[in-house]
Amino acid sequence: MTFSLHGLAVSSGIAIGRAHLVSHATLEVAHYKVRDKEIATEVERFDAAVAAVRAELESLKSEASAPGTPSEVAAFVDIHAMILADPMLTEQPRELIRERRCNAEWALVQQMEQLVEQFDEIEDAYLRERKHDVVQVVERVLKALMGKARKVAKRGRDEDLIVVAHDLSPADTIQFKTLKIGGFVTDLGGATSHTAIVARSLAIPAVVGLHHARPLVREDDLVIVDGSRGVLIVEPDARVLEEYRLRKSELELERSKLKRLKNARSATLDGEEVALYANIELPQDIEQVKEVGADGIGLFRTEFLFMNRDELPGEDEQYEAYKSVAKAMAGRPVTIRTLDLGADKEARALAGSERQSTNPALGLRAIRYCLAEPQIFLTQLRAILRAAHHGNIRILIPMLAHVAEIEQTLAMIAQAKAQLRTTRHKFDENIRVGGMIEIPAAALALGPFVKRLHFLSLGTNDLIQYTLAIDRSDEAVAHLYDPLHPAVLRLIHQTIAAGARAEIPVAVCGEMAGDPAMTRLLIGLGLRQFSMHPSLILEVKQQVVTADAEMLAMKVGRLLRFEEPDRLREHVEKLNG
Ligand code: PEP
Ligand code: MG
Repeated sequence: MTFSLHGLAVSSGIAIGRAHLVSHATLEVAHYKVRDKEIATEVERFDAAVAAVRAELESLKSEASAPGTPSEVAAFVDIHAMILADPMLTEQPRELIRERRCNAEWALVQQMEQLVEQFDEIEDAYLRERKHDVVQVVERVLKALMGKARKVAKRGRDEDLIVVAHDLSPADTIQFKTLKIGGFVTDLGGATSHTAIVARSLAIPAVVGLHHARPLVREDDLVIVDGSRGVLIVEPDARVLEEYRLRKSELELERSKLKRLKNARSATLDGEEVALYANIELPQDIEQVKEVGADGIGLFRTEFLFMNRDELPGEDEQYEAYKSVAKAMAGRPVTIRTLDLGADKEARALAGSERQSTNPALGLRAIRYCLAEPQIFLTQLRAILRAAHHGNIRILIPMLAHVAEIEQTLAMIAQAKAQLRTTRHKFDENIRVGGMIEIPAAALALGPFVKRLHFLSLGTNDLIQYTLAIDRSDEAVAHLYDPLHPAVLRLIHQTIAAGARAEIPVAVCGEMAGDPAMTRLLIGLGLRQFSMHPSLILEVKQQVVTADAEMLAMKVGRLLRFEEPDRLREHVEKLNG
């Protein structure tokens, strides 16, 4: 049956492919089809893993019966053994391997999801919570399977895999960089959540906030993701499919035409230079940055180096990562933002130690976390300082609001330098330090910031979140997320003006900078440094090279007086002709 669902458009483009339903856990296992002649071996592989876990549980049980071991341990082992004996987990996956030719891990995880759904429906809270035991048992079997992982020669039809999930964390999404996913859709999520941001950086079409995609779409359904309009079409009829295939090839053509702008000077018609920097999450993103000829890196979100791993990256590992980016950019500026963990960004390695916050976006996030964990912070600072010896690196501090935070951070940088002197490491003594302006309090009291810092970067994603008091990753309030709210525009304008008066550069590195519909407005507000995902740079450049900065400044100056959002929006649209 054909039907469509509407959500939030977060990453443009069109993907046409087969639906693949996932939960968080499934993302970490390989999905592929086994060949007919390999089915028997795959079933054996599965049976061997189950047998290994059974033996493991038995030996745990005999250890647990030793004197002095708390009785809960034996009870817990018993529950796991009982779950493992359930035919849903031991028999059904074998059927899936035989009938649908799924690899063992994939078959097992599909069964796990069904079981977990059944648990979710149980009224009794204690029994409902047993689903965590199911997941743990499955993880044990997965571990055993991975120990005996079969080499996958080629990952079949992965290019047109469309991931359909209830929700995806930024840590899940970043894994798509290696998995080659055609597009994804989720039921939850806001347009500037980090999940959406990662989708844009992957340049794959994505729609979030669909509410019912996960329960309505079936595995292998033919789906179209229209990432520009925020629509998911399931089992389209032949006419719609043809129409979308045509639009997809038109879009590809337009994209390839944009490539001609790669080496064009980024300046307005009246000669104002506009720097177009790239936002990256991992060193491997540099390839894409080079393809579009970015002027530098305006934001390296280093927290992504800390995700999906059991141990934190050490100083040397971080140093190598930062150095590789600096070298690849060959003298162009590379702005490394210090760790911005917290809110929707979590690191598995810190999971146990993190305090549970009732309101994580307002909690111990970003610089607040780093100042509370000086060893983690100092390690990162030393790595950045050392890497800066090999290129044009600058440090960017997220979520500053208080002067004391700036001063403590500068003191920590001085301490990191002193440590490097003691250990005789080479580093950049004169590294420049900038601050993100993403809390309204900072934008409203900029004096101390411009006095102590070398540059500013407006994080409009958070600035909007905190100014309008809406959670950027909650689709229930996504309609209230408004970059054109007069209060937001005034804060941006004031920050750019304060930077100009103090003669320090101000950039915008939030998603607004990569939205071509905002380019003229931002130029009119005086912005000359934009930082965005590399996939958006050429589209924004097209706006820059056809803009008249002086005229825009006049028009935008008038527009700032409007307090009625509709009139303001109307005038912004007029700027874009
Ligand atoms: C922002 O808040 O605008 C920003 C660039 O930082 P992040 O999206 O990583 O919070
Ligand atoms: Mg931010």
